This record gives sequence, C-alpha cells and structure tokens, in this order.
Amino acid sequence: MQEFGPNEQGFAMTDGKGDTRLTHGGRASVADHDFVNPPIVRGSTVLHSSVADMRERSRRYRSDEPGPVNYGLYGTATHHAFFDLLSELEGGYRSWAVPSGLTACTIAMLAFLRAGDHILVTDSAYGPTRRFCIDMLPRYGVQCSFYAPTAGNELESMFRPNTKVLWLETPGSLTFEMQDVPRLAALARARGVVTVADNTWATPLYFQPLACGVDVSVHAATKYICGHSDMLMGTITCNEATWPSMRETLFNFGLIVSPEDAYVALRGLRTLGVRLRQHRATAERLIEWLLAQHEVERVLYPALPGDPGHSIWQRDMSGASGLFGIVLKPAAGGARLYALVDAVRLFGRGYSWGGHESLLIPVFPERSVGASAYHGRLFRISAGLEDADDLIADLQLGFSALRATETQR
Ligand SMILES: *Cc1c(COP(=O)(O)O)cnc(C)c1O
Repeated sequence: MQEFGPNEQGFAMTDGKGDTRLTHGGRASVADHDFVNPPIVRGSTVLHSSVADMRERSRRYRSDEPGPVNYGLYGTATHHAFFDLLSELEGGYRSWAVPSGLTACTIAMLAFLRAGDHILVTDSAYGPTRRFCIDMLPRYGVQCSFYAPTAGNELESMFRPNTKVLWLETPGSLTFEMQDVPRLAALARARGVVTVADNTWATPLYFQPLACGVDVSVHAATKYICGHSDMLMGTITCNEATWPSMRETLFNFGLIVSPEDAYVALRGLRTLGVRLRQHRATAERLIEWLLAQHEVERVLYPALPGDPGHSIWQRDMSGASGLFGIVLKPAAGGARLYALVDAVRLFGRGYSWGGHESLLIPVFPERSVGASAYHGRLFRISAGLEDADDLIADLQLGFSALRATETQR
C-alpha cells in the first residue's frame, strides 16, 4: 500500500549540504515509485479495506502518527514529498503548505493566540501581516504591539504577562533590518512565548530559524521557492512542541494546497540553490553600479559590507538572495523617483519578488515605532535572471530620466 502520510522520521531523510538535499530530499512518501519525481496524486476520498482500517487510520490521524491518511485534506503523497523536503531543509518536525504567504502568516498567529492574549510584532513585518495585526486581531480580543526591529535585550520590558507570540522577520520587509534572532528567541522562550519567524528573504536554504531557537518558520513560497511568478503559496514549518497546535488549527480551518501546486513548489526547491546564486550575483552587480550614482544615498542589503546588519547576517545566514532597497538622497525623491521607475523597460513594475524576471518599484514603509523611513525616496529591486549588463543599461535609462527632471526645474 502506498504511504500517503509523512515519512517515519518526519524529516532528515537525506544528509549532506544544501544543494544535495535539494536534489535528493522529499522522496520518502513515494519510495515505491521509480521515477525521479513524485506522481501528482489527486484525491479527496480514501477507500478503506475494512472498518478496522478506518479506525486505525483515524487513530493515527488523531495521534499524529505518520502513515496512510484517511482523507485528502491531510495530504497526498505529492504533498508529503514537498513537506518532507521543506522540514528537512529547515530542521523542522513537520511542514505544511497553505494558499498564500499571507495565509501562512495569519494562521501562524491564530494557532497560538486566543482572546485576552498579546502579540509582539517587529515593526518591519510585511505590510499585510501588519494590517492583519492592526485590523483583525483586535476583533478577536487579541492585543498587538510593534517593537523596533533592531531591538535587543530592551525587548524584555515589552513582554506582558499575557504575551503569547513574538513575531520576527529578518531582514525586515522594505527596510531590510537584520534581527538578532538567537537573542530574541531566547528572551521569548524563557517566558514560554512562541516565536514565529517570516523567513521568506533568506529562503529555507540560507537561514534555519529553528536552529536559532525559533519555534515556527513561515515563508511566502510565492517568492523564491516557486520562483517563476506563476503561483501563490505559503509554508509553515514547526518544531515538535508547536506542531500539535498548528496541526489542529490547519485541520480545523481546512487548509491545504492543490497537489499540482505542491508539485510545482517541490520542483521549485530542486533549482533553488542555482537560482539564488545567480540572483545574488546579479544583485551585487546592480548594487555596485547603483552605489556609484551620486543620487544614491545608500543601499539596504545585509550582505553588503558596511550594512548595519552585516555582522548578524554573516553570523546567522549562509547566503543572500537578490532583493534589496535603494535610498535616494532627499533631493532625488518624490516625482523624480517616479520618473526613474517609469523609464525602465526591462525591469517590471510589479508587486511580489523572487521570480525569474527583475522588478523595480517605489516602496512606502508603514511604521508604528518611530517615523516612516525614507518616505518618497526608497525603491526596491528584485534582481532576476536576465543578463546583468542589460539590466544595468536599463537602470541607466532610469537614472537619465531622473536627471532630466532636474534640468526641467
Ligand atoms: C510576499 C510576502 C508575504 C506574503 O506572500 P503572498 O504569497 O504574496 O501572500 C509574506 N511575507 C513576506 C516577507 C513577503 O514578502
């Protein structure tokens, strides 16, 4: 009988470095199948051989034991191939996939919060995650407060008796601050507070939050994991202690993705390493060129020596992706920045990132602690897989347009 549940160990089916794991992991749930890739197994109803089989599968399902499942909501072999590889990469106990990165964030909050609780959220959290905290959580009696992303031990005074979740995102959305994850996770753990990290920028390849004391790692798989701007997905990876609450929440909300999407995400993981190396190499070429333009005040990219988060990045992460921010000098902001953005031809003007195509957009960070950073003079580049010289020629068009606005004044 084909195993549809997670593999026996739950993770760590292969050993070796990241690229080897990406290539060979995630095969346990389809071990009796000869092709390199898992079949796309579709299904809702599972047929049982007897009442005893029905009872046995229900018992396993209720006690979280691996093995054949009793309903499609709990994942087919295709799903578990993807979940197993993700758990292995992140050093987690179990992983799951949900319909968007934002769903992964909101469900990871709901799994650990109830009326009367409080959540501490980094001020640099992804915008829609912030909106959920501000607009939705109060409706359910949950209080939220934001803290400065670079906070260290001073975070201690912000925990309340009812704080249940500490939310991290490193580097932060739009402003790219690195967080001292081991220190913050230790503060939370000492108080029995669950720590969740949005790990989208570094990907499961370059940062393992769980090894730094975090309980749950979430990703917008929409970005680098899928990598081709053709689908939305979120992932959630838990340690053993937090999985039962997460599993209950996922199953009570009825959340899973299609087997086709799980297959596409698994295929995305296979090439994650080689894509990321190219994304980073191109990002570094673009950054070098950008830093030589006199309108550029600074570039926000933790892999850049001199970035305020560089030493933490060096200590905690094993690589960098291709997303970064550019701050223009005050005189080059506003309408002049828009002229730059409107002039580029190869870079796309579009939301999201991590796909094969380069994107360039102006961004406007919303912040609750302190002033809104770099307002009107910050833009963001997702370095894609085009030729770097062509992209630099395109940036040249953008900067020429920006300079033309100066002579018009
Ligand atoms: C894009 C993004 C998300 C949300 O992902 P979607 O799949 O677009 O919902 C969550 N967190 C971060 C850091 C993101 O960049």
